[in-house]
Amino acid sequence: MLETVELAPRDAILGLTVAFNEDPRPEKVNLSVGVYQDEHGRTPTLECVREAERQLAAGPSNKSYLPISGSTGYAEVVQRLAFGEQSKLLSSGRVAGAHTPGGTGGLRVAADFLHENFPKATVWLSDPTWPNHPSIFAAAGVPTKTYPYFDQPTNSLAIDEMLAAIESIPAGDVILLHGCCHNPTGIDPTAKEWHQIVQAIYQRGLLPFLDFAYQGFGDGLEQDAAGVREFCQADSELLVCSSFSKNFGLYRERVGALSVVCSTKEAASAVQSQINRSIRANYSNPPAHGAEIVETILRDQILRETWEQELTNMRNRINSMRQQLVDVLTAKGVPGDYSFMARQRGMFSFSGLTKDQVELLREQYAIYIVGSGRINVAGLTPANIDRVAEAIGVAVG
Ligand code: PMP
Repeated sequence: MLETVELAPRDAILGLTVAFNEDPRPEKVNLSVGVYQDEHGRTPTLECVREAERQLAAGPSNKSYLPISGSTGYAEVVQRLAFGEQSKLLSSGRVAGAHTPGGTGGLRVAADFLHENFPKATVWLSDPTWPNHPSIFAAAGVPTKTYPYFDQPTNSLAIDEMLAAIESIPAGDVILLHGCCHNPTGIDPTAKEWHQIVQAIYQRGLLPFLDFAYQGFGDGLEQDAAGVREFCQADSELLVCSSFSKNFGLYRERVGALSVVCSTKEAASAVQSQINRSIRANYSNPPAHGAEIVETILRDQILRETWEQELTNMRNRINSMRQQLVDVLTAKGVPGDYSFMARQRGMFSFSGLTKDQVELLREQYAIYIVGSGRINVAGLTPANIDRVAEAIGVAVG
């Protein structure tokens, strides 16, 4: 029977890393996968994480199951980070949620929850978005549609088209937004635009869902939460999916969370019970280690300071690579205005490179970029930036 199974296509992004690993050319550069790399091209384990692991190893050990929705202490630090230390939501009893295996796990739990409880709802995704978004909702049986987000000619947010689209989405549908550092465009709404978007969404009676995978990678922990917090109005409802893969460098530990803000305590209890039901039938309860690391760091003043410094260093390196790429491209006289790259935020830059140009870079220069032209800026280093700029010059020339 199994011989009838057809070969699935390679994952668009992770498949490129497989091809990269198989490429024998020593000068190869991987700008495809969404993983931070330091100036030596390594993905470091943060010092605060090493120290938290030392402390955890020295303390009491417990390998019994966690509750279905995970550790409550962890949920509290997650909410403090997303909603702010002073948020009234923290003690309101209005937030249901779960500690999940990565942000992806949180998105899937949310998708199962929506499918089960709002079977008629469509989830609206930005065009473009992270390619795993449509896959996750499709796997859960949730229909998706798209709203305009990116204005190619100006490399900016298509705010007017986006607002007009929101006004025509049926009430009761769900709209997914990237909390910050939009993947793949690197373009986020300004404070004024967030305000307009939030008003339009609530006026229309939509349920907002924020995918918050890069807090601290854009302009800072608090600054990057501006959009999420704009949604936290008096009795508003909101889903937030957090990931600590990037900002704690805990990719393989699979540590994330789903927080569901409800309008009343009673609603939150019911939502919690439904989320738990989805999780029980999915992976039963979450892995503990990554969440223990995050909680240890966020509850200890010194570890937290170390983390914030390490996060600042990652953010500054990415932003300086952005500026350097623009400078080198300009210095080399590469046709076109690339200044927009320095304005984008987060790990990614939507470069505007076409599929053919991306292919040329891979074939002739062993430079790997996603077909959409999305560049992982964190893959640029002082050692490879010149060659990358030169290759882009040839590709667009
Ligand atoms: N959302 C977005 C927009 C992402 O880019 C990612 C990671 N690439 C995730 C969610 C999920 O991250 P993880 O499951 O690794 O925590």
